[in-house]
Amino acid sequence: MSTRNWKKWGTIGLFWFLLTATASGIWWLTQPNGSKSGWFKGKGAGLWVSTEDAFPSVPLPPGSFQHEKGTRYDPQRYFASYQPVFKWCRLHAEEPAATCIVLREFRLVGKADTFLLILNPETLRTRICRKPSQAEFQDSTPQALSETLYGKLLNLPPAAETGMENAGLVHARAAEAVPPVLSVDLCPSLHPFSRDMFHRLVALGSRNHKPTPVVICVSGLWIRQHKADLLWLKEAEKKRELEITWVNHSYSHPYEEHVPWNHNFLLSTNVDFKREVFESEQIMIEEGLVPSVFFRFPGLISSQSLVNSLNRWGLIPLGSDAWLGKGQNPQPGSIILVHGNGNEPLGVRRLERLLGENLTEFSDLYAALGAA
Ligand SMILES: [Zn+2]
Repeated sequence: MSTRNWKKWGTIGLFWFLLTATASGIWWLTQPNGSKSGWFKGKGAGLWVSTEDAFPSVPLPPGSFQHEKGTRYDPQRYFASYQPVFKWCRLHAEEPAATCIVLREFRLVGKADTFLLILNPETLRTRICRKPSQAEFQDSTPQALSETLYGKLLNLPPAAETGMENAGLVHARAAEAVPPVLSVDLCPSLHPFSRDMFHRLVALGSRNHKPTPVVICVSGLWIRQHKADLLWLKEAEKKRELEITWVNHSYSHPYEEHVPWNHNFLLSTNVDFKREVFESEQIMIEEGLVPSVFFRFPGLISSQSLVNSLNRWGLIPLGSDAWLGKGQNPQPGSIILVHGNGNEPLGVRRLERLLGENLTEFSDLYAALGAA
């Protein structure tokens, strides 16, 4: 081959190399929130490294919220801004690069920092952290995460047999049989809190040498009406007596007796669904609770349009296949529902009876869903 030919083929080779490298670079940069490629498949869940080191949790200053009878909760006394977002975030300073999904971005009155509610889509765990200054952010969608566990749960088809009653997760999804998950609803109530039932759960934990996992679905109004009870739960969590997953159960939990269910709960007229979801999250955050990625519909009643809005805001409905107060019996992997707000003593009595018989352990919700 002549020198000219060498030069010619060398130039073509170099050109081809540069073209391929540029194309791969563009492909790589555009893939992270589009999971159809091998970006997830090839490297697995390990890439979602939203570790404490990379995105450390920050304790927020306590809110100035006071229980003032007859006044509506005013989130603007604590939050300067509060926005739902759906973004993919990557920290290049970490090796391997730490990645997470951002669901909320907010600022507090009188504070310069911006805070994020973030999610690891493989462990499903949420955390509140400061917005990192050296991070790359990109808009994403639930569909783009369809190959992660979170994406699969978020894009669940509606349960055909139940219509819009009991939408979302109603049972464990782990490969093997697991003990039931216990969820306790704290709807607004002027009755005393079922503290005895929680004492039984603490005692169960000490028998099992690990804190009893319990999902607490809390409404904003219950928080306002039960400061001391909430403090008791937070203390039990801090002392590792209970392992609590905090779930939003709407702010005011609308309900009217004798009204058909398709015009009741969050389907009642004049309900501002967005406000019901976000004000409840905000009062939870103001009280030092980290909202999980789940939402419990009041009465387990919803509509496709409410579920679509929830999914857009990154939340997964949590139903139940063992509502004890309605006589349903728990099986392995069931998501049990009882009311801890004094409104349904029958369910609590049934739970206490089961605890005295053969129910000796509960599953952690995340483990029951097969989370890493
Ligand atoms: Zn409720």
